[in-house]
Amino acid sequence: MPPVIDQEECIGCGECYEACQSDVFHYTNEGESPTVSYPEECWHCNACVSVCPVEAVSLRIPLPMMVLYHEREISDTLKTP
Ligand code: SF4
Ligand code: SF4
Repeated sequence: MPPVIDQEECIGCGECYEACQSDVFHYTNEGESPTVSYPEECWHCNACVSVCPVEAVSLRIPLPMMVLYHEREISDTLKTP
């Protein structure tokens, strides 16, 4: 699912727009919330969620991709001494 911006929390910093490599967001005015203009371009990299300073972006990872996220968590756990 494409990202959703919580308009109540967003401070319009544009960090999510800067972080997205797929131009999913449209952002023109500083202080205003970006819009999700090209949701179909989202490949669920999670960058926009990670950079948002106020946790205003949420993303639902599609089920097939959740398996990859889960496997990465497991491999990270195995690396821990
Ligand atoms: S998850 Fe990645 S591709 Fe999707 S909108 Fe966020 S930064 Fe862009
Ligand atoms: S990074 Fe967060 S606060 Fe900044 S514009 Fe995006 S959603 Fe709003």
